[in-house]
Amino acid sequence: APPQTRPETSDAVQVLNRVFGYDSFRGNQQEIIELVCAGGDALVLMPTGGGKSLCYQIPALVRDGVGVVISPLIALMQDQVDALRALGVRAGFLNSTQDPQARHEVESAFLAGELDLLYLAPERLRVPSTLRLLDRGTIALFAIDEAHCVAQWGHDFRPDYLALSELHERWPAVPRIALTATATEATHAEIATRLDLTGARHFVASFDRPNIQYRIAPKNEPRRQLLELIRTEHPGDAGIVYCLSRRSVEQTAEFLAAQGFTALPYHAGLDARTRATNQARFLREDGLIVVATIAFGMGIDKPDVRFVAHLDLPKSVEGYYQETGRAGRDGLPSTAWLAYGLADVVQQRKMIDDSDGDLAHRRRLSAHLDAMLALCETVQCRRVQLLAYFGQRGEPCGNCDTCLTPPESWDGTIAAQKVLSTVFRLDRERHQRFGAGQIIDILLGKHTAKVSQFDHDRLTVFGVGTELREGEWRGVIRQLLAQGLLAVEGTYQTLALTEASGDVLRSKRQVMLRRDPERPVKARSARSA
Ligand code: ADP
Ligand code: ZN
Repeated sequence: APPQTRPETSDAVQVLNRVFGYDSFRGNQQEIIELVCAGGDALVLMPTGGGKSLCYQIPALVRDGVGVVISPLIALMQDQVDALRALGVRAGFLNSTQDPQARHEVESAFLAGELDLLYLAPERLRVPSTLRLLDRGTIALFAIDEAHCVAQWGHDFRPDYLALSELHERWPAVPRIALTATATEATHAEIATRLDLTGARHFVASFDRPNIQYRIAPKNEPRRQLLELIRTEHPGDAGIVYCLSRRSVEQTAEFLAAQGFTALPYHAGLDARTRATNQARFLREDGLIVVATIAFGMGIDKPDVRFVAHLDLPKSVEGYYQETGRAGRDGLPSTAWLAYGLADVVQQRKMIDDSDGDLAHRRRLSAHLDAMLALCETVQCRRVQLLAYFGQRGEPCGNCDTCLTPPESWDGTIAAQKVLSTVFRLDRERHQRFGAGQIIDILLGKHTAKVSQFDHDRLTVFGVGTELREGEWRGVIRQLLAQGLLAVEGTYQTLALTEASGDVLRSKRQVMLRRDPERPVKARSARSA
């Protein structure tokens, strides 16, 4: 007989083909899997939808014993286990939602060597009986999913995650793989130290999602803008609309429903059954829109979400990236659209001021917001800026709003001085503080009732700003807030100067501003009535 000419396929590739039915590995999956199969430790950074699960599922099948997966997503464990069982993988989970009978069955299967994968909630590992159980079986590997939980300040699971550093002491020979979708280089380093993974190899996948078109539009009438986006670009498509408050979730869902769309609300204030039903319908039905607070989406694997729309500003670039990342997991063109305006900046600055916690905590919140604002106000490619935030480099993409319709930047120093000196005069000469609306009325020289009431038409700055329209002044003030050249204070969200304002007023600092496009969404005219 002729010698075998077929190239040898590794165990890992065979499992990929036979169990999961996929032809080939993606990105650096193969390298990661081979390292862990050989007993090495790995720290894996891969964006949502990148294919992290196979990185521990396949080694768990290739190696002797049970792969122990630590995951905080308790609500998803049943689904994950069901999906694996459907593929013939012997999987089980242990968490607090289980009845004793079910727990007992999983434990027996584990001890009998009848499990390939065991999902554990992180707090289970602090229970001595769980540790004793694991001691009596063979462990193929530890996978630590959502590993950023160890680094995130104030995170619910943090204490449980910190305790995971002890895994290595107790089971020194068992390889560990930590996985996350969210990590800047700082978080990176923190995961490695906190989990005692300093010897692990790091695998950093590209965070670029080339099929997602990023767009950030000035917010005028957000619901009407959203409607236009859906009607002209995504009729009949599945999508997620994120809002900050439960109330606006409800209202937006009702609005879309009234326009004839199937739109379901999702937020933490709804009872568990409604939430579960709405989530299940979104996964199963075509062309459904979920309007949600950020409570929605963690771990959701729906490949054909065609658009993610934000009607309010996300609190951080991490959040924005994760939420928009739920679009286009199938690799097909998808839209990430965000409407952003002056009120967002005012509101979020105020929320930070009002938040509990120490100064350091508020500083961190502020830094997160500033990075998000910088992304909104950039005149560069959105993708380049987004990747840079995650410590990665990119080329202008040609598939974001700033690439497609490059915004002009203009020297806004004089406009800035007009705003700042109005705020200054009101404050210093009259000990008054006002919100953006009144400042703009003064600049435009409008004789409103409130202007007369406060004699603001006698100010020297009254009517000095007629070269810009009201919307443009709002854009100027929004950007001054974003750049830290103006601050928002107090219950009435009035404007105040900052330390940095002085340099602008004294012409020591130039202020470059972005000119908001007239019509940012190049909408084809809608056919509907
Ligand atoms: P993550 O956990 O990184 O968000 P998943 O592990 O859930 O991503 O994978 C996302 C999707 O991609 C899943 O539907 C998964 O089955 C699929 N997938 C992963 N790896 C491959 C591959 N090598 N070939 C084809 N599909 C893959
Ligand atoms: Zn671009």
